[in-house]
Amino acid sequence: MSALSPIQNRDISYHLHPYTNAVKHAQVGPRVIERGQGIYVYDDQGREYIEGMSGLWSVAVGFNEPRLVRAAADQMGKLPFYHTFSHKTHTPSVELAEKLVQLTKGRMRSAFFTNSGSEANDTVIKMVWYYNNALGRTNKKKIIARNKGYHGVTVASASLTGLAPNHRGFDLPLAQMKHVSCPHWYREGQPGETEEAFATRMAAELETLILEEGPDTVAAFIGEPVMGAGGVIVPPATYWDKIQAVCRKYDVLVVADEVITGFGRLGTMFGSQKFGIEPDIMVLSKQITSSYLPLAAVLLGDKVHSVIARYSGELGTFGHGYTASGHPVATAVALENIRIIEERGLVENAARMGEVLQSSLRALNDHPLVGEVRGTGLIAAVELVADKNTRRPFDPLGKMGAAIFEKAHEHGLIVRGIQDSIAFCPPLIIDEQQVHDMVGRYVDTLEDVR
Ligand code: PLP
Repeated sequence: MSALSPIQNRDISYHLHPYTNAVKHAQVGPRVIERGQGIYVYDDQGREYIEGMSGLWSVAVGFNEPRLVRAAADQMGKLPFYHTFSHKTHTPSVELAEKLVQLTKGRMRSAFFTNSGSEANDTVIKMVWYYNNALGRTNKKKIIARNKGYHGVTVASASLTGLAPNHRGFDLPLAQMKHVSCPHWYREGQPGETEEAFATRMAAELETLILEEGPDTVAAFIGEPVMGAGGVIVPPATYWDKIQAVCRKYDVLVVADEVITGFGRLGTMFGSQKFGIEPDIMVLSKQITSSYLPLAAVLLGDKVHSVIARYSGELGTFGHGYTASGHPVATAVALENIRIIEERGLVENAARMGEVLQSSLRALNDHPLVGEVRGTGLIAAVELVADKNTRRPFDPLGKMGAAIFEKAHEHGLIVRGIQDSIAFCPPLIIDEQQVHDMVGRYVDTLEDVR
């Protein structure tokens, strides 16, 4: 290993990193990313990488969009900060709320702003509780999520997240949050079970849990249309219909966590459109500003909005909100970002390039290490297995994912290893030649590690 640079050493000394093994970090040191352009980022040694994950599933318009820089600078010059508490507002937050509601074609009624997806999901939990208190249903408070679902890291949102590393060492999950199975047919399907039968079984499992807990205690079901951090899990086509039917039967609210799938990732403006989800609440973040600034939104359908609005009148206020809720610079950047997505047809591009990505990855199906290729639109994963026929995973689990993640850097590619699945989620601006280049760099990496 070459000697660490001063910036790497200072990072090790002073910076505790999220989602990082601090002991290993002190040994290997960080990779210092200095600048970005289009789908590429560059480190301080001048090395170029295709950002195959759009950073954290989030930089839709690429890494150097001057219009977003200008939008931020203009708003900074005009009104760098103002809040939205106690009957105050400002134009960018109003315009963004209106735009988001319009994008849902009127399905949603209003927008509430937070800084992150975690805070947005935390807000959802509080809103769901507030809603049921307003209706006098004081026991209807449990929320059902899925194993491998990802909803954030605050105490409450991490309790919805169905991944062990988010619970281990933190005394989580909270008792009110329950989990059902991950709708991953390749891994969770029984021998001989069709995808359709699997989806039926998943919905039956949800119904059994609601009945065991008592329908008068279950408030909401939350899920990502396509799971991201859990390994890019695309559910069977009829899964969401069946799940929603169970929710409606027991008056359980449906929450679509679209933090990754919002703004075109699946080739539709929202993932809900693709799967026929009719959410009572929607959660948006990441691609809302292409992550140039932190921002998230909770969108409420009229059913929930009207009850919350009325109850805030009875209680004297809706006692929830963040200093930076609807921050003027973040909302101005979001508006410009959405304008770019619309003007450049990036949702349509995601649909077109998604087909190129999915078919070039599916061409790897015969590779001896490839167990499953999955995805839709511009999000995909390739699951590697020790034995293709029996689907036996590697021992230890994640060994191959970690090896590919590391080695890919040498081929100028940043991907994510999720156990032994390699995830792809490139910026929505990617073109055909770049998709082939990205997949080519991945194949070269695979040859190195096999
Ligand atoms: N929900 C989903 C689906 C996510 O993918 C994420 C982050 O990856 C979150 C919520 C949490 O968002 P944040 O990291 O902004 O708190």
